[in-house]
Amino acid sequence: MRKRSWPNPSQAKLLAGAVVVGLAAGYLTGLWSDLAYWFDGLVGLLADSTLVPNWLLGLFAACAVIVAGWLGAALRPSRDSRPSSSVTSEDSFFNIRWRWAYDGSGRVEKPTPHCLRCGNRLVVRQVGDDRGPECYECRCEHCGHVACEIEGSVDDFEKRVLDRIHQVTSA
Ligand SMILES: [Zn+2]
Repeated sequence: MRKRSWPNPSQAKLLAGAVVVGLAAGYLTGLWSDLAYWFDGLVGLLADSTLVPNWLLGLFAACAVIVAGWLGAALRPSRDSRPSSSVTSEDSFFNIRWRWAYDGSGRVEKPTPHCLRCGNRLVVRQVGDDRGPECYECRCEHCGHVACEIEGSVDDFEKRVLDRIHQVTSA
């Protein structure tokens, strides 16, 4: 194509001479060898398609995971930017260490009971039938410590806990 568009052989010779001089000058300055190195690498990479599934796809996948992680990390604070998650509090009453968080409007959410002895999370479970159906105990399944017994419904107990937390908070 190029030779047909340049029918004048003297121009072609001139161009070839200029290219040779340019390449020679580049070679002398060390530039050409660097370019050749990168060009060889590029040609090898493009020509050898088996390299792509072996490592390039892996590289892309790794990049995708990293980018997804960055995006996730960048988006997460805007979703969970309510002050609730960062503001937590705790206090001990009813022989239990209570931990709770506040939601965006300052309401107490989900007070959780913890063992005063070992700090493990306590579980509420019903005590045997002989003491009536509405009797529960707050027991630590880690050290076996029974923190307290609840007479009446668990809902009432949770309400008392919330009332106590509100007293603590407003004090
Ligand atoms: Zn315990």
